[in-house]
Amino acid sequence: MTKKYRIKTSCPQCGCSGVSHLSEQEIIQRYGDVPNIELECHECMMIMDADVEEDMDVDE
Ligand SMILES: [Zn+2]
Repeated sequence: MTKKYRIKTSCPQCGCSGVSHLSEQEIIQRYGDVPNIELECHECMMIMDADVEEDMDVDE
């Protein structure tokens, strides 16, 4: 079973927010095995911290 995570971002600069869903593998591929993920805002390019929480909705 693959763990899935929900990554929530909210930009302090322009106020936009978003949620993306990634599997554990995808997170490791993109960000490495790190507890804190930093993402770049699509709107203003500011680097912001993302909240990562486990997604309980599992679709096999
Ligand atoms: Zn922004």
